[in-house]
Formats: sequence, C-alpha cells, structure tokens
Amino acid sequence: MRSLGLRELNISVDDFHMVFLRKFSGLNNAIDAVRAALDLGLTVVVGTVKVVGSEITTAHLREVFKDVEDKVFFQEDFATPIDRAAVLRPLVPRYKLSEIKGGCPHVGTLSVHPDGSVAICCGHAAMPNTDYGRFFVIGNVINEDLRTIINRFYRNAFAWYLFARGGPQSLLAKLNPDEEIANICEACYLLVTRYRDSLVKLSLRKKELFKALLSNGGDIGDLL
Ligand code: SF4
Repeated sequence: MRSLGLRELNISVDDFHMVFLRKFSGLNNAIDAVRAALDLGLTVVVGTVKVVGSEITTAHLREVFKDVEDKVFFQEDFATPIDRAAVLRPLVPRYKLSEIKGGCPHVGTLSVHPDGSVAICCGHAAMPNTDYGRFFVIGNVINEDLRTIINRFYRNAFAWYLFARGGPQSLLAKLNPDEEIANICEACYLLVTRYRDSLVKLSLRKKELFKALLSNGGDIGDLL
C-alpha cells in the first residue's frame, strides 16, 4: 500500500456504514485501515454520524481503538435529516431558528464534485447531482478555469448572505419563523426545496440584495 502523497485518511464508521462493513469482517475492516494508515504516517480521522440510540458512537469507538486512541482524531455529529435521510428527523435534536446564531463559516469552502461541478460550500445541501443541490453550483471545472469560477463566487449575493448575514436560518426565519432544524445545512435544504420559489424571487433581485447586505441593518424582508 502506498500513500500516493496523501496526508490524511478520513474514514466513516457508524451504524449506517456497518450495514456494508458487516459484509467485509465488520469493525475489523476499519481497525485494519486505521492501523495501516497510522503505520504510513497519515493523519487519521474517524467520523461518526449518529442518531438518538445509535450503537456506534465516538465513545464506543474510543474503546475499540483504545491502543491508538491518542493518535486518531474522532469526529461525531448527528445526522442531517435531509433528502432520503429525512426519515431520521424524529431521531435527532431539533432547534428553533432563533436558537442558532451566526452565518455559515463553510461558505467559500468550494467543493469540486465528480462531474466537475463547483459548489459554494461543502455542506450537506450542496449536492450538485440533486435537483435542490444545483442552487449552490457556480460553475464547472471541465469547461471553465477555476479563477473564473472563484470570481463568480465573489459576486454571488446569495452566498454572501449565507456567510455574512445571520446564515440560512435567519433567511428561513423570515419565510417561516416556526420551522425547526437540526443544523444550518437543514435550513439551506428547506430554503432550496420547500421555499424555493421565494429564493428564486430573491436571487432575481441581486442588486437590491447586495445593497441590503452592504447597509448596516439593511433588511431583505420586502425582497422576499
Ligand atoms: S449551511 Fe448551507 S451554505 Fe453552509 S455548509 Fe450547509 S449547505 Fe452549505
């Protein structure tokens, strides 16, 4: 096995992946991968997505990997209940929109997808292979250079709003303050699905949106 110049192995281990891992010797598969990566000097991140009542949690995995626990980074989060994972909604904590503060720090972490699409972020809702995810796409590296796409990103009023003005949850609150979400990516998902028409209307008023963004306290309520 060669590292091919990679510095990090990010491996997902949770109840959802166990369905597949069980076909290939279960957790032993993950244990072997982690040990081999550590032997190669890679940084290893073990990511776990959970719901209420999950068997595999980071606490459980710290036991499984206890002999190398101090060398492995663990990440754990509740599932984002969007798209086919929407059935998990009753199994994850939910928050009122007013309980979540601030813009989305991941806007600008441009993601490049297998078909060459570039999205404004790396979030759960920004999946270019879905109808709703296309709303986040700002170009395609197969037929444009990345610099052109990045310049387009800087002129994207929607992206600036998500980043700088209270995030998707504040925009969602303007449309329906009674919505509840598991995290801000679900707010984005609701915006581009349930409230898509309002979002399209807003995106057509780009100049006014930028003006509101640049003026301290400028409200966009009348643009929706
Ligand atoms: S909250 Fe929205 S903008 Fe931020 S990462 Fe999630 S999908 Fe992307």
